[in-house]
Amino acid sequence: MRRTLIAGNWKMNGDLVTNAALLQAVRSGAQGLAAELAVCVPAPYLAQAKTALEGSSVAWGAQDISVHEAGAYTGEVAGHMLKDFGCHYVIVGHSERRSMHAESSALVAKKTKQALAHGLTPIVCVGETLAEREAGSTASVVEAQLQPVFAELPDQLKHIVIAYEPVWAIGTGKTATPDMAQEVHAVIRKQLAAADSAAAGVVRILYGGSMKPDNAADLLTMPDIDGGLIGGAALKAADFLAIAHANQK
Ligand code: PEP
Repeated sequence: MRRTLIAGNWKMNGDLVTNAALLQAVRSGAQGLAAELAVCVPAPYLAQAKTALEGSSVAWGAQDISVHEAGAYTGEVAGHMLKDFGCHYVIVGHSERRSMHAESSALVAKKTKQALAHGLTPIVCVGETLAEREAGSTASVVEAQLQPVFAELPDQLKHIVIAYEPVWAIGTGKTATPDMAQEVHAVIRKQLAAADSAAAGVVRILYGGSMKPDNAADLLTMPDIDGGLIGGAALKAADFLAIAHANQK
C-alpha cells in the first residue's frame, strides 16, 4: 500500500508574512485527509515551517542538500542542518537544478545518498525535455537519470520517493495527459523493479508538471501515480488542498 503524497515545491517564493498564512491554512486544511501533505520551502524558512507545522500531520522539507558534511562550501546546506530543522523530505535533482546549476545524475545520486544518511527522505526528480520526448527517448532518459541512484544505493531504494517531472510540463501550464504520465510511471517502476523488486512495490512515484485542482483527480487515479510534486499551485493553500482532496486512493 502506497499512501498518496502531495508535496509542494515552493521554489524561491515566499516571505515571512505570506508563508505564515499559507502554512497555517495548509496545517488546518490537512486534517482528516487520506493523502500525506508536505511542503518543501526555501532554506531560510525552514525554522518558520518547523514552528508552524510541528505537531500537525503536514511534513516539511528542503529543496536541495549538499553532498558535503561540513566545511568550506559557501552557500551550501548540509544534511544535518536540514535535520536540525525537522525536515522529513528533501528534493534532489529538480530539473531547474540540473539545467541551471549543471547538476549531473551522478551528483544527484550522491545527494540522494547524503539525504538517506541523515534520515531524510529524498524526492528524486527525473524527466525528459520536449526534444527528448519527441525523439522517443523518454524511457532511456529517465533510466539514465535513475541508474546512478540505483547503483549508489542498492539496499536503500525502498526509502526514496521518485518524482517524474517532464521538463516541458514544469511551470508551463502544459500537463502530461494521465495516460502519458502513467506510461512513464510504469516504465520507471519496471526500471526500479529490475534494481530492487521489493522497492518497486513500495516506492512512491509522484507526477510533477502543472498539476492543478482541475487535472489532479485524473492524474492521481492512475495506478502508478502515487501523488504529486506541485510547484505553482502549492503557493495557494486552496489549490494545494484541492489537489490533495482530489485524491481518491
Ligand atoms: C515543480 O517545479 O516541481 C513543478 C511541478 O512545478 P509546476 O507545478 O509549477 O509545474
